[in-house]
This record gives sequence, C-alpha cells and structure tokens, in this order.
Amino acid sequence: MYNLRYSSLSFFSLQKFTNPSKPTSISLNFTQNHIPKHLNSMISRISTSNSETIQLKPPQKSVIYKVPALESNDIDKITGQYFQRYYLSSENKRNGKGVCILWFRNDLRVLDNEALFKAWASSEVVLPVYCVDPRLFGTTYSFGFPKTGALRTRFLIECLADLRKNLRKHDLNLLIKHGKPEEILPALAETFGAHTIYAQKETCSEELNAETRLNKGLQKVSLPSTAGTSASQNGAKTPRLQLVWGATLYHKNDLPFNMSDIPDVYTQFRKSIESKCKIRACIKIPSSLGPPPEIQDWGAIPSIDQFGLQNQEVDKGLLFVGGESASLSRVHEYFWKQDLLKTYKETRNGMIGSDYSTKFSPWLASGSLSPRFIYEEVMRYERERLANDSTYWVLFELIWRDYFRFLSIKYGNSIFHLGGPRHLDNKWSQDKTLFESWKEGKTGYPLIDANMKELATTGFMSNRGRQIVCSFLVRDMGIDWRMGAEWFETCLLDYDPCSNYGNWTYGAGVGNDPREDRYFSIPKQAQVYDPEGEYVAYWLPELKRLPKDKRHFPGFSYLKPIVPLKFGNTGKQGGQKAGPSRRENRTGGGPRNKHFTR
Ligand SMILES: Cc1cc2nc3c(=O)[nH]c(=O)nc-3n(C[C@H](O)[C@H](O)[C@H](O)COP(=O)(O)OP(=O)(O)OC[C@H]3O[C@@H](n4cnc5c(N)ncnc54)[C@H](O)[C@@H]3O)c2cc1C
Repeated sequence: MYNLRYSSLSFFSLQKFTNPSKPTSISLNFTQNHIPKHLNSMISRISTSNSETIQLKPPQKSVIYKVPALESNDIDKITGQYFQRYYLSSENKRNGKGVCILWFRNDLRVLDNEALFKAWASSEVVLPVYCVDPRLFGTTYSFGFPKTGALRTRFLIECLADLRKNLRKHDLNLLIKHGKPEEILPALAETFGAHTIYAQKETCSEELNAETRLNKGLQKVSLPSTAGTSASQNGAKTPRLQLVWGATLYHKNDLPFNMSDIPDVYTQFRKSIESKCKIRACIKIPSSLGPPPEIQDWGAIPSIDQFGLQNQEVDKGLLFVGGESASLSRVHEYFWKQDLLKTYKETRNGMIGSDYSTKFSPWLASGSLSPRFIYEEVMRYERERLANDSTYWVLFELIWRDYFRFLSIKYGNSIFHLGGPRHLDNKWSQDKTLFESWKEGKTGYPLIDANMKELATTGFMSNRGRQIVCSFLVRDMGIDWRMGAEWFETCLLDYDPCSNYGNWTYGAGVGNDPREDRYFSIPKQAQVYDPEGEYVAYWLPELKRLPKDKRHFPGFSYLKPIVPLKFGNTGKQGGQKAGPSRRENRTGGGPRNKHFTR
C-alpha cells in the first residue's frame, strides 16, 4: 500500500503541499511498524500545513512544526543572500603570516564571528577545528543525568555539518577531532606550526578550565622561529591562545561598569547599558577564507551512536534544524516572510506552535546565530517595515541573555550552588518519587505534565512553561532546584549554563536579585495562558475528550495530583482575575509561605 502512495512522492514534493505557518495532521493508512525506516524519519521532518491535508496518518503521530519551516533550497538561497550582505570589499587583504588555528566552541557560525575573522586576518592559512570533547557527553555535576541528551546531540551534529558546508563555500573546511581540546590543539599547533589559536571566550568553570589547560598544553609546544610566534618565558617559541569576546549583544569591553559592579537588578543593568553603550556592528567576512591547509582526512561528521546515544525522532511538536543556515533562515522567516516580529510582545507568552516567539535560542546557545546579527535585522525591519514595542522587545529579551552571561562572571560558580549567588541556607528535599513524577510529566497537573512531555519529546519548552514548571518543582514540591536545572541541562536544545542556572536561581529565589521571588499559580497560569486547555490536550491527548473547562483540573479522569498546591486550587477556570498579581516577600529562597504570585 505505501509503495503505491509514496513511491512517486519525494520528500520535497511532499513539502510542496505544505504551508509552514499552520499545522495539519499527516495521516498514514498503515501502521507505524510497516513504515520503512527512511520513510518514517522523512515523514517526521515534513512541515505541516493548514491548506492541504495529506491523508497519511500513523497512529500516535501528531502535528510537527519544523523550525524553520522553509525548504532546504530556500534555506540555501537565504543563507547565500545574508552572506552576500556581510562580505568585505575585495580591497581588504589579510596581512598576517603563517598558520592560525580557529578553535570552534559555542560559536558555530561564519557570519559575525570575530575569532574567525581575526584568525584569517593574522595568517596566510587558517585551520578551523572542532573538538568533540568526551566530557560534554558525561554526566551532570550532582545528579548524574546525561550531560548532553540525544536531541541536543543531534542538533550539534547538524550544526557541525552545516558549519563545514558554509566553510567550504568560503574555500575552507572544518577539521573534526575526537578528544580534549587541551590535547588535540597543541598537537595540531606543533604539526602545522600555528603561531596563534583563536577562540571565543567563555565564562563558566568547565569552559574556563579547558582554556587554562589548553594554555598549559601550548606552553609545551616549541615552534620553529619562522612561525611568527612570541617567545615564552624560557625563550622558546610557543603558540598563543587568543580569546575573543563574541557571545553577547553588548560587548563586555563596552559596559559602563566592571564585572564586579554589575547591578543586581536587571532594570538598572538594562537602562544603564542602553543609555551608555552602543552595540558593535557585525564583523564582515571575506568572500574567500582560503586557502585551506593541506589535510588528507578532515574527519567525518560524528553520528549519534558515536556518543553512545540512540537517535530520538521528534514525532510531535517543534522540530528544530541545527546550523547557521537554518538560523539565518529562521530570522528571515520570523521577521520578513511571516512578519511575526510586529506582534512578538503580544504573542511571546504562548505555548503552542512555532509562531508565538522567535525560537532563536537553540542557535544562539550553539553560537550558530549572532545576537548582533539579530539586532541589525531588527534595525532594518524598523527602517523598512515598522518600529513598535514588539520590535524593541526582542532586544529587551536578548539583554536578559546578556545579563545572565555577565552575572556568571560576577558570581562565578555560586550560580551552580544550592544557596545561589546569595548563599541562602534553605532546606530542600531530594525526594526521588516527587522528582521523577515531575521529570516524567506524571504529577497529576496537566499544565506541568504537558510541559515536561514537550521538553522530553522536542528539547524545547516555552519561556512561560519553564517558569511554571520551575515554580512548581521548587515551591509546590520543595525539591532541590539543582535537580530541575540539571534535567534541563540534559534536555534543552538551547542549554546555556549562564541562562539556565541564572533563570533557575531566580526561579528558586536564590538569585542575585533579592526582589525576585515568584510563585506561579497553576490555576491562574492555566486560565490566562491556556484558557481552552488546547495546549494540555495537545500533549496529553487523553484530555481531548474532556470539556475545555475541565482539562486543567480533570479530577478522576486523570492522574491524582502528587502534591497539593501551596495555595490550593482556588483559581479553577474562571475563579481568579486574569492579570498577574504580585505578593512580595523579600527574604528569598526555598519553599516558604509567601511569594510573589504570577
Ligand atoms: C528555568 C528556566 C531555564 C531556562 N534555561 C535557558 C537556557 O538554558 N538557555 C536559554 O537560552 N534560555 C533559557 N531560559 C530562558 C528562556 O526560557 C528561553 O531563552 C526562551 O524560552 C527561548 O525561546 P525563544 O528563543 O523563542 O525566546 P524569545 O521569547 O523569542 O526571546 C528571544 C531571545 O531572548 C533570550 N531570552 C528570552 N528570555 C530569556 C531569559 N529569561 N533568560 C535568558 N535569555 C532569554 C533568548 O536568547 C531568546 O532566544 C530559561 C528560562 C527559565 C525560566
């Protein structure tokens, strides 16, 4: 049966039927077990549409929102156009000597990559390297979850494949090596006589340790005097490690305060940088970064089983495509094609589909997308279409991201500690049964369970969802917030230590801002953000048959709630005011009685 229906349809012709912005179910009239493997994965990558329904529905397969929803030839075209816009004029010549290594870390992009540009400008040949560091695939620090789950691993693999493709388009390539950077890079520097290793500067301890160990490793390399190196203390020529700031919208060196003086209140930070600093322009790139060094074997793009992980197909919800090309296309799609930027502020608290927010975070975290590029696109949109609160609000959110990055410098490892930056000594539980019910999405509260299922299935959860499940874990269950943060670390495609632990410390009331101490009431959140129970019914199909006003509190039709809510189920549908209210408690931390209520 499937041969008849499918053999004449290629993946791309199937995509042609689709309209990226709205979902449609795809139904197959045979059981999932009968679908050939290659077809199965192909189906799951089809973006879905509202205009034409393809009658191909495997049981349990549901709506998939591909992000970006564009076809691959459109992605290539858009990427090419963006690169074109950022090319240096051919008069700009490099004036360096010898070989430089570019060590790619969380900056997996060509566009607006200052480290890449500097490596090119200060050499005759650049060797771009990515080290697949086994430590990234170990376990989380305190609770032993996988440090990088299968979904983020696949996203990373796609980023590497795309980076190699984009480097090749610019007459370079990407050398892929398995092992620790502090062992691989000095050996490469020695072999190629590289005088400098350029890389993006990081701020958290694991990454800083890698920098320190690499520096030590480089001290042991002695280079021929022709390599254009500086002499080390003992007079031998050694390669230098040059770390370049590149992860934020505002450059660290442009801030109007020292790192130790960063305000503890976000609004003060934001107002100060907005009034006193300028965002630097994106770094332009030459149209050719070659010639590449002579290398026989550039190394294969790793496959997921090389990490000891099993591929996890996304069969429902958001399916992100990794890589710089997909990220540039998502910007194009969200801003220009679908014109969603103009309503971002009103839609950003949504939970269903790909349109309610930008979905830039996975690419920002892997560095496939530059925040300054987003800024320049917002400015262009404001010039060419319109400027309003929504266009500004994307920048407002990106400044939150900057803020958490800079706070990780100010507060160091305390963002990972139980007491947080304020060293609060609260009592927390590590009850395994409660935690497992949260992690598995089996708490008996549909809003929590739906969000946790979305996270496990797709590697993504909305900002609203993250705040709600965080509040539930720490406030209603009283569980050690680090367990939640580490589970997010495993699952999130956009995992970034600064944003993740920064937000969790805020949510747990142990963050740097003593005024941030919020309780998110489930009845109220449900009423405001999912009044029809559409979101919970999407992730928990057993709720679909219930009347809409019963979906959040289904009683005997669903699992029994594992804990009572701190303030009871007082706000059943319609029972509370829609707007957020706040009750202040300035003591911070742990499960207590009074909190801000959102
Ligand atoms: C408990 C918790 C954990 C989180 N962990 C992470 C994480 O590991 N990585 C991560 O990138 N974000 C994290 N966030 C922040 C936020 O939820 C995501 O950045 C956002 O949901 C991503 O979706 P988007 O790109 O569509 O965001 P949009 O609403 O479109 O925002 C645009 C961009 O602004 C930035 N941004 C927005 N809100 C925040 C925020 N609160 N903190 C930092 N940056 C923000 C992101 O880079 C985002 O891509 C966390 C939030 C919470 C409450």
